Amino acid sequence: MEGKARRGPSSNFIKEIILRDIETNRYGGRVHTRFPPEPNGYLHIGHAKSICINFGLAAEFGGLCNLRFDDTNPVKEEAEYVEAIKEDVRWLGFDWGDREYYASDYFEQFYEYAIQLIKAGKAYVDDLSPDEIREYRGTLTEPGRESPYRNRSVEENLGLFERMRAGEFEEGSRVLRAKIDMSSGNLNMRDPVMYRILKVPHHRTADKWCIYPMYDWAHGLSDSIEGITHSICTLEFEDHRPLYDWFLDELNLHHPRQIEFARLNLSYTVLSKRKLTRLVEEGFVDGWDDPRMPTIAGLRRRGYTPEAIRNFCERIGVAKSDSVVDIGLLEHCLREDLNKRAPRAMAVLEPLRVVIVNYPEERVEELEVENNPEDPSMGSRRVPFSRVLYIERGDFREDPPKGWFRLAPGREVRLKSAYIIRCEGVVKDGRTGEVTEVHCTYDPGTKSGTPEGGRRVKGTLHWVSEAHALEAEVRLYDRLFLRPNPDEAGDFIDCLNPDSLKVLRGCRIEPSLKDAVPGQRFQFLRLGYFCVDRDSSGSNLVFNRTVSLKDRWAKIERKGGP
Ligand code: ATP
Ligand code: MG
Repeated sequence: MEGKARRGPSSNFIKEIILRDIETNRYGGRVHTRFPPEPNGYLHIGHAKSICINFGLAAEFGGLCNLRFDDTNPVKEEAEYVEAIKEDVRWLGFDWGDREYYASDYFEQFYEYAIQLIKAGKAYVDDLSPDEIREYRGTLTEPGRESPYRNRSVEENLGLFERMRAGEFEEGSRVLRAKIDMSSGNLNMRDPVMYRILKVPHHRTADKWCIYPMYDWAHGLSDSIEGITHSICTLEFEDHRPLYDWFLDELNLHHPRQIEFARLNLSYTVLSKRKLTRLVEEGFVDGWDDPRMPTIAGLRRRGYTPEAIRNFCERIGVAKSDSVVDIGLLEHCLREDLNKRAPRAMAVLEPLRVVIVNYPEERVEELEVENNPEDPSMGSRRVPFSRVLYIERGDFREDPPKGWFRLAPGREVRLKSAYIIRCEGVVKDGRTGEVTEVHCTYDPGTKSGTPEGGRRVKGTLHWVSEAHALEAEVRLYDRLFLRPNPDEAGDFIDCLNPDSLKVLRGCRIEPSLKDAVPGQRFQFLRLGYFCVDRDSSGSNLVFNRTVSLKDRWAKIERKGGP
């Protein structure tokens, strides 16, 4: 049975509802969803969850998913955001075909529906000020009071509403309200505002309108006009559902089913456009696509893959109660994907010069190195080895602690895919005492990949050849916030991590990366996954560290899950 098959391991309560609707033929078996962003900021990883749910359900049930811009508030919305949102949805791997819609395209229709409600005695023009409306609304424990303007005649309401549209009244002087129930236990049903006057040009309708529909009024109508069957939104809209239903019932229109799910919260992260906007506008980050931002644009620039994000969204599932997801899970999904596909390379972030004193001066060997031990089909490349190399400064200690398997005076290590070397001495800066160079000998009989080269030592280091290396800037990132829940600090800005970005210059990269282009990803051996930043140009290479290699979550999984 097809239905049964769908109730598989990745089933969720939304799928169950849709299946029932298909079985009962509620919408003629159709499934039509939409992703409805408001273009007042960039999309973030929480939106990715919503995108995956909406587009994913449509695909799974052979239906359609629209992209709809919920552009009803001209004050904060901009065309730049529209373009960014489209790019992000496309990058995540979803296609809305020719169904790119805007709530603003329906403004005229919304207006006609409003007239219909006025004529039915279900909407009225109110002259109370915004403050008075708030005061009259009452509270959760006290019923609201009816506005003195509530019982205007239909004719008077029609005339006033027309004049509102014509621009005859000042902002804030009048609104159109639905006439529902001022004593309802649900505050959303206490005569909610449908239109307010805003003498602000709109990014699409320009100066055509000076009255703008409120979200609750516009949203359900947009869903209905587009023939949506399942209007999937986050839990905070649960209390708005009676209003969603009321508008569509009063107008007797096609009536989608609204279904609410828990929004994504991530530890060490804020996911609210208002807060993200503040980070950008007050300069705490370097724009919406700063690699520390949880925006799709930021994650992309950081080196995330769409596959990793989609996999993450699949794994967190869809639930009806709020929770916080460990950001370690997102990083785990990323590592899992990059481990399979990122070619390996050697890079030295904090270089220390190593001279192999018994290696001939002008000799260069091209050593064969595998591109990805996880995937032999990715082949191998040649990496030059010569007398002067760089290793990581942190891989040498003049005075090593117990259990040190890296380089130290008199100790041996293997250079990855090359030879075993032994430290014979150091050169120091006469003034600071800092080690500036390490002198080693190599053992010619230990070449990797040769039958006789198999002698083993405990430590293996990555390295690059000085004469062949490329220079690069590497940006290391840490969490943007110091607390798992940045909001518990009062003002989330107070727990920004002052060390969330560390820039290293003069890093050395193996020469095979000379043609790397922005967006390309690599695993730098022992250091993590890195992605070429868009600030790179020509020989001026800039890398972002996408994520380190250490995977806390993998251990949790092996133990049988969190
Ligand atoms: P924010 O709370 O960040 O300001 P929003 O809800 O105002 O977001 P919209 O552009 O209105 O942003 O959201 C578009 C869709 O994405 C909505 O259906 C909304 O429910 C959903 N969405 C927003 N944030 C999340 C989240 N954290 N997890 C899941 N879905 C989300
Ligand atoms: Mg919203």
